[in-house]
Order: sequence, then structure tokens, then C-alpha cells
Amino acid sequence: MAIKQDYYEVLGVPRNASDEEIKRAFRNLAKQYHPDRNKESGAEEKFKEINEAYQVLSDPEKRRRYDRYGRVDVEGGFPDFGFGGLGDIFEAFWGDVFGTSFGQTAQRIPQKGESLRSHLTLSFEEAVFGCSKEVEIQRIEFCPSCHGIGSERGTNPETCPECRGTGQVRRVLQSIFGRYTSTTTCSRCGGSGAVINNPCSQCQGRGRKKVMRKIRVDIPAGVDDGYRLCVDGEGSAGLYGGHPGDLYVTLSVKPHNLFHRDGSDILYELPINFAQAALGDEVRVPSLDGKVELKIPPGTQNGKTFRFKGKGVTHVDGRGRGDLLIKVNIVTPQHLDREQRRLFEELAKVLPRTEPPPDV
Ligand SMILES: [Zn+2]
Ligand SMILES: [Zn+2]
Repeated sequence: MAIKQDYYEVLGVPRNASDEEIKRAFRNLAKQYHPDRNKESGAEEKFKEINEAYQVLSDPEKRRRYDRYGRVDVEGGFPDFGFGGLGDIFEAFWGDVFGTSFGQTAQRIPQKGESLRSHLTLSFEEAVFGCSKEVEIQRIEFCPSCHGIGSERGTNPETCPECRGTGQVRRVLQSIFGRYTSTTTCSRCGGSGAVINNPCSQCQGRGRKKVMRKIRVDIPAGVDDGYRLCVDGEGSAGLYGGHPGDLYVTLSVKPHNLFHRDGSDILYELPINFAQAALGDEVRVPSLDGKVELKIPPGTQNGKTFRFKGKGVTHVDGRGRGDLLIKVNIVTPQHLDREQRRLFEELAKVLPRTEPPPDV
């Protein structure tokens, strides 16, 4: 369960960093964590975070919104790039990071698909007991017609004639220091090594399509307001055999009219009258498991809290439950009928009067 990080912290720059500082920080980190170079576990996730942070902070409009609202809905790491448009994005992106010599090997590295975000509102009970809900999302999937290839059914992409399928074009250049070979991404195929002469009519040759999907999400018992749930693999399709992205669902929980929650504990405020407080009583109090019997001892003070161990909310990891806390609230009567008034007056005669302490 990844918790959203602060974009400035991710890039390790101050909030007032200049565009140049942000770019420099991004380049350094991207080099350090690129999955092609860094095989440590977590490098890929870190790389994605860096990427996302840079996308927002390098765009003045997105950065302004992020500074103001603390969030921006990023349209994914590499939005909507199919077979055809890939080269541009890689060239723009990787060229910027590593220089043109790097791009070629990067192009067919499996890329995890874009992760998506969604939101669900739950009732108090749904959050406490768990439930199963549907969210509707828009995601990128492989085109079912061409199976992600991008060429019309019955046809295949052909080897790029320009680079003979290598995705790279080598050129020998003459300079004052002598001859040297320059390698650049093939502009004809965008580095993929293949060209599509008959683009798929369903996806216009992109190989991927935006689709609306309803995803069923199993919500474990014990989630609370603000909880973020990760549904593995329900984000957009990956590229070149990469895993699909994930779906993150943020939860809101509606309040209950009787119970309050404090983490895994349930709080319930029980109104009682003076007589119950003074003489004691036995009352049946609502709980998550039906009514529980509460013994109010004689002489109970206002605000006294009784704890029922293990009668609270199941911990979200499934291990154990919180407690039910019943807080007594002694209610002073506001409208006395004649009989009640008479009895209170009788009582007043025999009860010791409380006085403020004398001045010292
Ligand atoms: Zn297609
Ligand atoms: Zn080519």
C-alpha cells in the first residue's frame, strides 16, 4: 500500500525550487533509479514516483495546482502512447534524460502500465464490516481486435525498411577531430523497428484503446476514512510485456448517527439520568454485535467511560478487534412535571448543599 509522497520530497528540492533545479534533480534521480540500470528492489517504484513528481512540477500549470490543492490528477506516466506514437515520447523524454545514445535500448524494455486512481464513499457499516463495491474507471487496454499489435486483422507489422528493424540509424560523420559514428533513433518507425502499413481500424494502429470498465473492489473490514486501497493489476495495460498498472481507491466513510470511530475503537455516548447515576442501573447498549449489558455502578460520575474489550472494529489486517467505549452522559432534566418537582424539592432538603469555597 503506497502512500502518496510529497512531490518536492520525492525530487529532494525545496518548494521554491527553480525549473532548472527541478530538472537537474529529476535527471540525477532518473539516472540513478532507471530500472534498466538499477536492479535493486523498489527501484522501479521509486522511478515511477520520480517520474510522476517531475511531470507535475515541470509543468507550471500543474505545479501551481499542486501547490494550491496538494494534488493533481496525473494522466498517467506516459499517457496513451501506442505503437505509433512511442518514438516521439521516448525521444522527447529519454533524449532529455540520457541523451540520444540511450533511447534505443530503452524502447523495448517492458514498461509497467499506468496506475489509476479512484474514489469510493462507504457507509459506516460497510467500512466496519467490509464489503464489495464497483468503481468505474477509464483505462487503457490492449485493442482486442489486433491484440495490441496495431495492424489490421490478418496483416502484420513489417520490418522497417529504413533501419531494417533495428530501430536505430547509424551515420558516419566527419568532424575536425576525425570520423565518428552517430546513432539516432529511426524516425520512420520511432525506434520500434516495425512499421504498420495497414493500421487496425479499431484502434487506428495504436494497439491500445481507452475503455470504461467497472471493477469490483473487495474492501476489507476495518477500513477508515482516507484509507487508500491498492487493487493490483487493474490499471492500464503495460507495454512490451510489462505488468499492468494498479488501481488505487481512496475511501471516504460517512458518519454514523450513534457511533463514532477512533481508529479501531467505537465510541458511544450513553445518556442517563441523575437517579441512574446515583443509584446505579443495568442498561442494554447498542454495539456492533447487537446489545451489550452495561452495569452502571451507584455513584457514577458524568463522563465515566466503560470499556468493552474486543467489541470494536476489526483491525484492517484482520488481526484482532478494537474496543467499544461507552461514555456516560448525565442529562439534567429541563422540564419537570409536578410530581418530579416535588420529589426533587424533597431531595434538595436532605442533600448537602455544595458551596463555593470561602475567599482566602
Ligand atoms: Zn487494434
Ligand atoms: Zn525504423
